[in-house]
Amino acid sequence: MSTIRHILSLSGGKDSAALAIYMRDRVHEMEYIFHDTDKELPETLDYLARLEAILGKPIVKTSTVDSFDHWLTVYGGMLPSNHRRWCTKMLKLKPFETFVGSDPVVNYVALRADEDRTGYISAKENVETVYPFQDDGIVRADVIRILEESGLGLPPYMAWGRTRSGCFFCFYQQKIEWVRLKEVHPDLFEEAKRYEEQSVLHGEEFFWNARESLAELEQPERVNQIKANWEAAQARKRAQRKNLPLVETLGGLVVDDEPHERDGCLICSI
Ligand code: SF4
Repeated sequence: MSTIRHILSLSGGKDSAALAIYMRDRVHEMEYIFHDTDKELPETLDYLARLEAILGKPIVKTSTVDSFDHWLTVYGGMLPSNHRRWCTKMLKLKPFETFVGSDPVVNYVALRADEDRTGYISAKENVETVYPFQDDGIVRADVIRILEESGLGLPPYMAWGRTRSGCFFCFYQQKIEWVRLKEVHPDLFEEAKRYEEQSVLHGEEFFWNARESLAELEQPERVNQIKANWEAAQARKRAQRKNLPLVETLGGLVVDDEPHERDGCLICSI
């Protein structure tokens, strides 16, 4: 009889980090893993290094033997999108299933009690998926408190406006996040732009952002327009938040889950 393994996949985001801290003293034999796509933000890797110190255990990186670029070639140069998520399957789910093998496994997923979404979760018969936050009624405010009390805090990329972890070119980003990416990591923005430009060579014009290319988005007038739209949306949200509990703010900064964040998946980016 194989021993049951307990595995928690970290995404680099706040919820899975909080779950890792939450479970630290509850399941001592927990294995923490991270599926590195090789296209992560540097802030994500720094955050995981700090989390590792708090957990007192290594976070195993299931490094991609076959990189994003390898799979891009396999898929005929067809970049991934929300309608063709080969990136999640090949760079997140497959490494997870390889790591697990045929061992009986309890898979801990950071789905909160205040959210309702589904995602790419292994359907292997030897994997039982559990949702401790849902079972214990843990909501977003609790997650923030767990992170604050541990000293880890929120992922550092949130300070410059990025709402999610995952690949720097993830197609779930808002336009304002692309603008911020260009400001904070111009080299990564250029790399994302190059992927768009190369897509034409494979017979398909592809934009990460649906109908607008990054070359169009980065034009100064367009950047100003995106920023103005975002500021106006934030002002409307602030007006609706007059009674926000203190626990839902950090030093006056409102911690927001943008609506699009819910479009992501459980293994990938939240
Ligand atoms: S973060 Fe986005 S681009 Fe990267 S694997 Fe996940 S869905 Fe795909």
